[in-house]
Amino acid sequence: MPDTASLIVTRFAPGPTGELHLGHAYSALFAADKGDRFLVRIEDIDTLRVKAEFEQAIFDDLAWLGLEWETPVRRQSEHFDEYQNALDALQSKSLLYPCFCSRKEIRAEIERSGGAPHGVEGPLYPGTCRHLSADERAARMDAGDAFALRLDAAAALQSTGALTWTDAVLGTIDVTMDEMGDVVLARKESPASYHLAVTIDDHAQGVTLVTRGDDLFPSTHVHRLLQALLELDTPAYHHHRMLTGEGGKRLAKRDQSQTLRALRDAGNSAAEVRAMAGF
Ligand code: GLU
Repeated sequence: MPDTASLIVTRFAPGPTGELHLGHAYSALFAADKGDRFLVRIEDIDTLRVKAEFEQAIFDDLAWLGLEWETPVRRQSEHFDEYQNALDALQSKSLLYPCFCSRKEIRAEIERSGGAPHGVEGPLYPGTCRHLSADERAARMDAGDAFALRLDAAAALQSTGALTWTDAVLGTIDVTMDEMGDVVLARKESPASYHLAVTIDDHAQGVTLVTRGDDLFPSTHVHRLLQALLELDTPAYHHHRMLTGEGGKRLAKRDQSQTLRALRDAGNSAAEVRAMAGF
């Protein structure tokens, strides 16, 4: 019997907002292949977009592919209290601030100031609301203005000191928030952002190796910072290439022809689909 403490625990964490496609199959097979224990997590935090039938379809597709995962499956929508506790902890360290800017206002502010440094997801938030006084914040909240909670990234990184994380391909990575900036950690319509939820979930599920597409590489800086701030475990990371479709384009949920359903309905066996994904 192997020592359970040294077992590699991986996970596949789809959002039930559409059908799984070949890229998801690659990600799921990759995670299962790298782990001694393989977990699944349903990332249903975006309650406006998730659909119960997609969740069932995910389980059916994964089982059809021949994957086996441990139960119970973690569902983010069942853990809002944990995310709230984390927000409270960050709030008590004065590392969050309310941001009242609409997307339009952010764009206008960036234009006014002659452009903002670019992050991976476009121009970085210019920090407008970081500079509001306590009175201004209170007045706008009293007026019922909608706001998001942003992480004061520079203050956060200063409070933790220099941090690193390890990627299986690229080695030791120094944490920088230059590419992500003051990320949103909560909004009215979604009480925890992707960043906050996955960081807490990976710790709660005891994941020791996070495998995911390299499109999420920059997000890992945020997750490592949150781990330090919230005293959570730091897993190892393995960001894998994204499977591409015809013409080298990344597969997206809207590419209906590449859903596992469509491939199955077209007569492909599970073994053939696994082979298409490179497994
Ligand atoms: N839910 C994310 C996705 O489907 C994956 C998050 C992760 O692996 O960290 O892209």
